[in-house]
Amino acid sequence: TKLSHIRNFSIVAHIDHGKSTLADRLIQACGAIEARDMKEQMLDSMDIERERGITIKAQTVRLEYKAKDGLTYQLNLMDTPGHVDFAYEVSRSLAACEGSLLVVDASQGVEAQTLANVYHALDAGHEVVPVLNKIDLPAAEPERVKQQIEDVIGLDTSDAVMISAKTGIGIDLVLEALVTRLPCPEGEENEPLQALLVDSWYDAYLGVIILVRIKNGVLRKGQKIRMMASGLAYQVDSVGYFTPKIIQSNELRPGEMGFFTAGIKAVADTKVGDTVTDDKKPAAEPLPGFKPSVPVVWCGLFPIDAADYEDLRDSLAKLRLNDASFQYEPETSAALGFGFRCGFLGLLHLEIIQERLEREFNLDLITTAPSVVYRVHLTNGDMQELHNPADMPDPARIDHMEEPWIKATIMVPDEYLGPVLTLCTDRRGQQVDLTYAGSRAMAVYKLPLNEVVFDFYDRLKSISRGYASFDYEVDSYSESELVKVSILVNAEPVDALSFVVHKANAESRGRGICQRLKELIPRQMFQIAIQAAIGGRIVARESISALRKDVTAKCYGGDASRKRKLLDKQKEGKKRMRQFGKVEIPQSAFLAALKMG
Ligand code: GDP
Ligand code: MG
Repeated sequence: TKLSHIRNFSIVAHIDHGKSTLADRLIQACGAIEARDMKEQMLDSMDIERERGITIKAQTVRLEYKAKDGLTYQLNLMDTPGHVDFAYEVSRSLAACEGSLLVVDASQGVEAQTLANVYHALDAGHEVVPVLNKIDLPAAEPERVKQQIEDVIGLDTSDAVMISAKTGIGIDLVLEALVTRLPCPEGEENEPLQALLVDSWYDAYLGVIILVRIKNGVLRKGQKIRMMASGLAYQVDSVGYFTPKIIQSNELRPGEMGFFTAGIKAVADTKVGDTVTDDKKPAAEPLPGFKPSVPVVWCGLFPIDAADYEDLRDSLAKLRLNDASFQYEPETSAALGFGFRCGFLGLLHLEIIQERLEREFNLDLITTAPSVVYRVHLTNGDMQELHNPADMPDPARIDHMEEPWIKATIMVPDEYLGPVLTLCTDRRGQQVDLTYAGSRAMAVYKLPLNEVVFDFYDRLKSISRGYASFDYEVDSYSESELVKVSILVNAEPVDALSFVVHKANAESRGRGICQRLKELIPRQMFQIAIQAAIGGRIVARESISALRKDVTAKCYGGDASRKRKLLDKQKEGKKRMRQFGKVEIPQSAFLAALKMG
């Protein structure tokens, strides 16, 4: 296809504003899929994504569109993930396109991720077409929302497209806007090959599939290619694109998006952001790459049943094949035995992986307290990255520590602003900006990541009755007075519950956790002492009194089957418990204990 007949675009939106529904409509309108083949939300492929209504893996679809000018265009739609944790994947997808559709729900208006995503698109040099969705809803206020887009984002909305992705109104206008308003790609087919490696994943039939955007040159079946960053060379087995069905072709030309396979065994051998070039006639320069995605949240994953260790290891290896941003390494815990320390892009990413391990791989796991990555500067001049509070060096060896901060943008209706500001202040936030647009406020804060990682998002949602929206980016490291709080159960330290916190909050956080554990740990046949300690100093203490009666006592000794049932039930409950010395702690306590009140 000629460059002038290609349009590469993404759809950016706040979650639930209708991105996936619009994508499905566009696919349908271009006849790529028969209505009977059309599963709802074609692009959200994994079950968990479908259930949670989010898109994790960026995917691309090639559409053929016959425009009003009588010409046929190749439209490449690049799907992007919709959650804050995956901002990095959004920006790498955008780098492969020239334009974006900015979808805003006309009954909701601009939200935090609308802003974050549109800024990513503008940063990528995109032409942005505003699209107001859900105009079928009685609550839709397209005029007010257009004004808001102008005020908050500064985009001209006089040509905004009004649609209902649900009923199909305006889909034709979106397609025309893509052709008439977005620029076509640039590129030179006689130059040496330069293809941007946008994504890669493992497929059981085809092996590693690599998604590319061709900038210059032509990628052909049988060609010997080289990855410029890794230096590895391969022979191309197959070339093609998705409609979303896999279509094989002989070549990909400048401006086009598509995939190739080349007998590559592991996703780890492909580096997202790398440049693919011809092995014999390489390009002089690689394309500008992406910043690598670094896990910012780490936690331990341990099998409840030690016999599941090998299964857990194999399952993690499988997950990692398709998710290069997820990392893990073996970890041993005094209390929990053998497991893995795992790194994630954020808490949602953590929850998704944990859920997949439990559901798809049938594993019962204990997740330890999530921690961010601290920088520990030792008195001998060395610097260590601390992923696990259990590895914190002796305070005598520490000169100072640094913690990561984020820049957060929160949008909230006026009436909930007060509690939101209080929450940010409680979490050591520093206000950067506070502005108003209509009846909504936009607050920009710098916040320490460790205050946000655990339950900030849940708290924000609950104090704003679900109306606040939130987005963040990792900002910088800065020096901080941090201490490790250890939790002791019957005088034994439970390393999986220890955490690092700012000195000023250490005592109250320790007290809160002891109180919560008191409620979470069931009474047992003996008294249990729960303590929080900083170094050797106990800062909080709670106790759980002993259980007096036998569980079966109320069965009067008569009904044997009922008695057995009760004991079986108790055994069942035990599977979800973990023994610490003599004390059994339910799995649920590990994460729940750390939710800040
Ligand atoms: P995404 O999170 O941006 O991908 O949003 P989805 O496409 O999953 O849509 C979120 C919800 O809004 C779903 O329940 C859709 O059915 C609904 N929705 C999407 N577009 C429209 C629309 O034009 N009108 C109405 N009434 N609902 C819509
Ligand atoms: Mg979606």
